[in-house]
Amino acid sequence: MNELDELLLHAESQIRQANDLKSLDHYRVSYLGKKGQLTEYLKNLGQLPAEERPIAGQKVNAIKQKIQVILEERLTALKETEINSQLSAESIDVTLPGRGQLPGSIHPITKTRERLEALFGQMGFTMMDGPEIEDDHHNFAALNIPELHPARTMQDTFYFPDGSLLRTHMSPVQIRTMEQAAPPFRIIAMGRVYRREFDLTHTPMFHQIEGLMIDENVSFSDLKGILIHLLQNFFETEVPIRFRPSYFPFTEPSAEVDIGCLSCKSKGCRICKNTGWLEVLGCGMVHPNVFTAVGIDTERYSGWAFGAGIDRLTMLRYGISDLRALFENDLRFLRQF
Ligand SMILES: [Zn+2]
Repeated sequence: MNELDELLLHAESQIRQANDLKSLDHYRVSYLGKKGQLTEYLKNLGQLPAEERPIAGQKVNAIKQKIQVILEERLTALKETEINSQLSAESIDVTLPGRGQLPGSIHPITKTRERLEALFGQMGFTMMDGPEIEDDHHNFAALNIPELHPARTMQDTFYFPDGSLLRTHMSPVQIRTMEQAAPPFRIIAMGRVYRREFDLTHTPMFHQIEGLMIDENVSFSDLKGILIHLLQNFFETEVPIRFRPSYFPFTEPSAEVDIGCLSCKSKGCRICKNTGWLEVLGCGMVHPNVFTAVGIDTERYSGWAFGAGIDRLTMLRYGISDLRALFENDLRFLRQF
């Protein structure tokens, strides 16, 4: 009987100190298993004198039950501890700041657009917008480019079956503005234009800015003054600028504008094809036929217009040599801006 009491005390202290489910199971087997210590006592009951057997049997069973209860308690406690440690290990501290976050950046074309809008805004120009799907009248006819005019072949156009088209330049916005309001005008329009061209230096979709200024007594010197001011501020340098006579159907006289090559400082290099000059925009005095098409009095008003590629201005300003970089959205490229 004393042995059994000692066994109980021993079992109790071992079980209470079991630190995990595995060692707890080990104690269960060593006391209650088929070859366990208590099981051995039960087997040996037969060797006792007959009158002692019932009392001894009761005692062994009572201790067995007590050990089972102790095992059960320890099991519950261990499971609880396990759950708690799992919970605390997996917990998320929502107050911690995020790690490895990279800030986004403004696309270089958007930067150029914002810059142009700000520079023209300072000179009193307003931003206008128009549809990308246009009709023949706004994209061609009203701009002194009637049907069968050879200038239509200068701009390979995407047509829809119903005769509407993807605008080939931003000029339709000027026509719409002049149709809907009366002079004076100081407007710019920026957006996507489309032409059927695709090679190393052309993409079927690209970005243009066009500007228009109409008022009484507007002359070519206004055009020169504003465009020189614009280009030198855009490139943030006193870059040399020259006007070359050119031809556009919607302006007369017309000019193309070159800036001194930024990469060789006009000495001549691969980018400027050794000329020292880079073409950046086209411009001219609005053709009287355009004024007539939109109902503006050519005796009272005069004006000038210009158009430039935003993609080209972006490439020159940031020294980007490959046009495709602007459209591929490679993050390694975009993160530099
Ligand atoms: Zn050069």
